[in-house]
Amino acid sequence: YAIGPAPSRESYLVIDKIIGAAKHSGADAIHPGYGFLSERAEFAERVIKEGLIFIGPNPESIRAMGDKTAARKLVMKANVPTVPGTPDAIDSEDEAESFCKSVGFPVLIKAAAGGGGKGMRVVHKIEELSSAFQGAKSEAGSAFGDSRVYLEKYLEQPRHIEFQILADQHGNTIHLGERECSIQRRHQKLIEETPSVIVDEALRAKMGETAVNAAKACGYHNAGTIEFLVDRNRNFYFLEMNTRLQVEHPITELRTGIDLVAAQLRIAMGEKLPWSQKDIVFRGHAIECRLCAEDPENNYLPSTGVISHLRPALGFGIREDRGIEQGGEVSVYYDPMLSKLICSGATRTEAIERMKRALREYQLLGVKTNIPLHLFVLEHSLFTKGEFDTHFLQNHFTPEQLPHAAETERIAAAIVCAVRRHSGNVDANAFVPLTGDGSTYNRMKPTNWKAQRGDNMRGEA
Ligand code: ADP
Repeated sequence: YAIGPAPSRESYLVIDKIIGAAKHSGADAIHPGYGFLSERAEFAERVIKEGLIFIGPNPESIRAMGDKTAARKLVMKANVPTVPGTPDAIDSEDEAESFCKSVGFPVLIKAAAGGGGKGMRVVHKIEELSSAFQGAKSEAGSAFGDSRVYLEKYLEQPRHIEFQILADQHGNTIHLGERECSIQRRHQKLIEETPSVIVDEALRAKMGETAVNAAKACGYHNAGTIEFLVDRNRNFYFLEMNTRLQVEHPITELRTGIDLVAAQLRIAMGEKLPWSQKDIVFRGHAIECRLCAEDPENNYLPSTGVISHLRPALGFGIREDRGIEQGGEVSVYYDPMLSKLICSGATRTEAIERMKRALREYQLLGVKTNIPLHLFVLEHSLFTKGEFDTHFLQNHFTPEQLPHAAETERIAAAIVCAVRRHSGNVDANAFVPLTGDGSTYNRMKPTNWKAQRGDNMRGEA
């Protein structure tokens, strides 16, 4: 159903057009996905008003959690710990300055309507405050149409650990464990895994219960995520709630065996959760790498182009949730995420090793990808030891460290495969004539093998 031109402001973000497509198709429910309208209370309201089912929470919960300062106040009432911050959005630099004096630097300026790491500025000293304050306000204004900002103490070495919750419309709320999302660039997630190496059973129970309480505080139903920052002493603080499915939900599915989207549909239809907390069994380890069309050598600059060749990695323990195909175009209009590669294993090491193989075998030509960056992280000793925080890439990554030889090999393999495919010969082991008349084949016949090797050595091949 055509919903308009490529720019999302004229299509995916236009409520009328989405409702129109639903009506036209005879759909009786709308799953809002992630991004676009998924956390817009007005959209959920409209869906319901049109007599359709919104596969997500009620609009009031979306609204309550959508404003970050209001959300913090709400969960504090349910005894959920939060990062020290200004209770409300602040208007003046004077107010900002007095907050900084009370908690000490560094502080973080954040957009009240924030998301996707936009409208954030770290301030290390008083001289930086004024320009950071104005910068954050204007970025928030253009990204969210809402320039309100607030301040938080900037935690120095935090880990981002979030909890998946499921709640039905009958008052039952459970959690499905944590996801460690500390490997980030520009405050945006890149690699997620579950379990977190720093969460033991006791901490999981405590954080899980807190997450359930936070969800209950806003009368939540359907799938949602409570995000926490965890400091070096394993104190945890509520960051925000995402009132939708998360990009990284597959790792939870692989570790619990629960299909989260199916659960969302059942909850939206009014069914009761078939599990209580004690029924949730955690098994093995799962890890997700977000494959993005962006250049880690060039400040993560998005890369556009036509995907001229695509041969994804396959095999035991590998899942891929992909939104692209060969011949498709990666344009400037949407997020640079191409695909999510998700690997599971009995242990963390097994999941990581499997992911490394999958990344090395992944063939994609036409746009630059961050595959080498993923390999850099997975091979880093601090990552394998589990000793990292949200500043890992900022502190440890420089482009010179990318595994260039492995990358050349990966691209070369993809080119060979693409050439074979193009020449109509899809048998990976078959010899491909380099000329149309078969003369190459003749030269390469086994009987001529020795001579041919000599030719090659003289550089004729
Ligand atoms: P958004 O909604 O824009 O994604 P979040 O509040 O979820 O913003 O924060 C995104 C990331 O920014 C976190 O995962 C963390 O890395 C960093 N961050 C946010 N608040 C703080 C804080 N108070 N101290 C340190 N890092 C923070």
